[in-house]
Amino acid sequence: MIKVNVDRLLTDLRELARIGATADGGVSRQALTAADIEARRWYQARIAEAGLEYVMDGAGNQSAILPSDPPSEKRILAGSHLDSVPNGGRYDGALGVLVALEALRALRDHGISPPVTLEAVNLTDEESAIMGLMGSKAVASQLTATDFERSRVDAAELDRRFSAIGITRETMLGAARDDVLAWVELHIEQGTRLENAGIDIGVVNAIVGIRSVHVTFRGEAAHAGTMPMDRRRDALWGAATFVLRAREHVMRHYSPGVCNVGIINAQPGAFNIVPAEVYCALEYRHGSDDEMDRMGADLYRLLDECASEHGLSVTYEETPPVIPATMSESVMRAIERGADTLGLSHERMLSFAGHDTQNMAKIAPAAMFFVPSVAGVSHNPNEFTRDADCVNGANLMLHTLLELMKEFA
Ligand SMILES: [Zn+2]
Repeated sequence: MIKVNVDRLLTDLRELARIGATADGGVSRQALTAADIEARRWYQARIAEAGLEYVMDGAGNQSAILPSDPPSEKRILAGSHLDSVPNGGRYDGALGVLVALEALRALRDHGISPPVTLEAVNLTDEESAIMGLMGSKAVASQLTATDFERSRVDAAELDRRFSAIGITRETMLGAARDDVLAWVELHIEQGTRLENAGIDIGVVNAIVGIRSVHVTFRGEAAHAGTMPMDRRRDALWGAATFVLRAREHVMRHYSPGVCNVGIINAQPGAFNIVPAEVYCALEYRHGSDDEMDRMGADLYRLLDECASEHGLSVTYEETPPVIPATMSESVMRAIERGADTLGLSHERMLSFAGHDTQNMAKIAPAAMFFVPSVAGVSHNPNEFTRDADCVNGANLMLHTLLELMKEFA
């Protein structure tokens, strides 16, 4: 059975981890900063060394290309991102790019010329140093000129970073592709479900949608000593009741969906005043948009219920949602057939974090798979995935591409 070159893969992983390395074992490679640019040059050099073609598109996305014979316009893409959060880990994104490259090299080593052209891609700015999922947004026609104004760096810095790799806002906006037959991404799980269950591979069936809601409870300020407890309209009592009731309700009825209240702010805010107004930042996530509709309706009903129990009024306002991305059944099956060939155990699961795959799913059949993260640690220098799991992931990327070639050629 065809397998990847383990030494070459692990050497790559170790070498890449030196670029932007932090003293505590992590990496800082924010998009298009010096460290990220060094990693990009390193990737380009690995591609040249492997004798593969190299192309960078207008969004700065870098591809290693294994051309088909005869040449094909349409391509199967695999990849992830080499950029990192500040003081992040060595595996997030990086492993996904390296296994895609290694899969292409292994095919070449074995003299396999694919029936359809393959690309191993490093997508630009996944981790939001500039805007997040930028390279995949550009490829999937999700980018508009106004997005640059909402960038996390100022206009001059944005243009400086673009010019450092020879791209511009215009080339970025012109980077949409219509030649993608299928997309697959390997990523570390960044959670503990695989480790806890002793399963090798998580096949992602959807990337969750996210809805964020500004909630305000309004009661009445009062003297915290003289106002009898049973007469108080304490806005924080309403908010507190809601937080606990929402937790129970979501766990009981919407698992594996999740909800969170991440900000609570009580006004006027003093030891001796009953809170008159409480602001809460509510967020909930689920893999199904229909379930999110029901979840939202239930949470709003709970808000009304908690407010009325404490004599309060409540208002809520949703911000623009992130829609859940459903993964392609045919790509998921290709991953599962690959895992079966390799004898790797697998289970379908939701991704609770955002990934470039959610954009790629807008232009092509797409799916992604997870390998275990030790203790679920991620976006942290202690992020760790065992060598054996990295190798499993690389072999599965190789065999997924073999399956996809059969299906899409
Ligand atoms: Zn990532």
